[in-house]
Amino acid sequence: MIGHAFDLAIDGYVGLLISLFILYTGYNVAKETVNILLGSSPNPELCNQVKDFVNEGMYIIGTHDLKVHDYGPGRTIASIHAEIQDTVNIVDAHLIIDDLEKRISEELNINIVIHIDPITTDKEKIKGMEEIVKSAVKEVNNSFVAHNIRMTIGYRCMNVIFELSVPSPQVPAADTIRKDIIHKLKEKDPQLNVIVNSVTALT
Ligand SMILES: [Zn+2]
Repeated sequence: MIGHAFDLAIDGYVGLLISLFILYTGYNVAKETVNILLGSSPNPELCNQVKDFVNEGMYIIGTHDLKVHDYGPGRTIASIHAEIQDTVNIVDAHLIIDDLEKRISEELNINIVIHIDPITTDKEKIKGMEEIVKSAVKEVNNSFVAHNIRMTIGYRCMNVIFELSVPSPQVPAADTIRKDIIHKLKEKDPQLNVIVNSVTALT
């Protein structure tokens, strides 16, 4: 009688272990497939390599909006916006961008498209934009500081890009801070397309 009860218990445990193993294997297979289909989240080291590469290009004064999609080995697709002063000749700018795309694809083994953002050099426009951005940022939080404010002129909207410094305990809330600032700026001017390129700790 005791032996019989013991056998039953063992069967149950072994059965449970096997089911857990099957579930676990199934989960991993599904996860890998979903990651490949959706493009898994980019490796931060690769992102920094791409940014450094582009930032070192002639005429390039900054970058933003890097997107990297990893669809498996040799199938990484990326895009980035390269900021170039609007006084640079379009042929020269294209030459640099074309060369960067080729070198990045050879050296980092990724397929990249670089989009050019002509950054305005119009001092009056920059001054006006700086005032709007700085006041919006102060209204969200008096201790936040916007810097390196630059802009591109569009047909239907004005793109404004800047870096933000916040007190270090608030860095983990970067996503919320970004949303609040974008909201505040859009209240001031609905035509604005706002890119808070980085949120780092005040030093
Ligand atoms: Zn852009």
